Amino acid sequence: MKGVRLENITKKFGKAHGVANLNIDIMPGEFFTFLGPSGCGKTTTLRMIAGFYFPTEGEIYFDDRNVSTLQPNKREIGMVFQNYALFPHMTVDENIAFGLQVRKLSKEKIKEKVDRTRTMVRLEKYGSRKINELSGGQQQRVALARALVIEPDILLLDEPLSNLDAKLREETRVEMKRLQTEFGVTTIYVTHDQTEAMAMSDRIMVMDNGYVKQIGTPQEIYNRPENRFVASFIGDTNMIKATVKNVTESEVEVESEEGIRLVGMPTNAASNAEMKKGSTIYISIRPESLCIGAGTNGMIGTIKFVEFTGVSINYVIDVNGFLFNTMMINNGSELLSIGDTMSVHVPIRNVYFLGE
Ligand code: ATP
Repeated sequence: MKGVRLENITKKFGKAHGVANLNIDIMPGEFFTFLGPSGCGKTTTLRMIAGFYFPTEGEIYFDDRNVSTLQPNKREIGMVFQNYALFPHMTVDENIAFGLQVRKLSKEKIKEKVDRTRTMVRLEKYGSRKINELSGGQQQRVALARALVIEPDILLLDEPLSNLDAKLREETRVEMKRLQTEFGVTTIYVTHDQTEAMAMSDRIMVMDNGYVKQIGTPQEIYNRPENRFVASFIGDTNMIKATVKNVTESEVEVESEEGIRLVGMPTNAASNAEMKKGSTIYISIRPESLCIGAGTNGMIGTIKFVEFTGVSINYVIDVNGFLFNTMMINNGSELLSIGDTMSVHVPIRNVYFLGE
């Protein structure tokens, strides 16, 4: 396994940039995810790491080796794409063996490695099946086996679960994470599915419009977003615009445009200037941070919408004209109804300030 370092990478297509000024340091063995909306530059970055595109500016290193202009077949990478790109007329074993044959390994060595990898992806009995006789999930595992069998330094995965239905996606992501840990291979994963990114990654890079918006662990990205884009893109949130009313060393008091008064703790995501009395600031409150009953940052609202999901009860509550999305864990108690009055509060640490 190798580390991957991108230094000041920019890729231009004509005058437009695909990505700009990327600096990333991926550790050996890390599961690192590129996450962002369509067109933000995830695939462009992955293709540069694979060698299908060369950067317009900047350098790419695998450990200390500069690979910026190296051809893809010289990079020792394994890849799985959205469409798997398997050979449909060939068997599972022939597909898995492909990369080993290109590398001209002996027949015995190929058999040994194919058998071992097929077992690891739990397709023991399927060696002689044709690809078009397999389910989507099984095909996905063949694609993974074909990428892993060459024992790559780096594994690149571009939306590899997007062809699977929801249930299978969940099962397969657990399986993929298990295999990645077992093989210990440095893995770069591209997705626009935040749940997948959160569940699988050691660290996530959130991108927007060709730029990096934040790099961090799933907890950092979710609990301590650095800007409004990350706070809104990852998970659901109530984003409130407010004016700072009072600042002390440990607390900031604000008032929203609707007249809602809230107290929170200063965060690094808002600058000192934005934390000054009179300035405009944004507040992110996660739906699960609103608690039923009176307490700090107490509010009284009217229920506008009720949704029961089994695990949770999601109320939309109107407080002074601001519609708060809330998410309460279902503990079996009676549901409230539309039009009911509801008292909620928010712990100070969950009133999260973001810059303008
Ligand atoms: P998606 O999730 O839809 O695959 P993405 O985040 O992978 O999106 P990219 O495919 O990397 O996004 O594209 C980034 C930007 O670069 C987009 O604006 C896209 O239109 C542009 N782009 C990508 N490839 C090319 C190309 N070969 N020629 C011109 N522009 C391109």
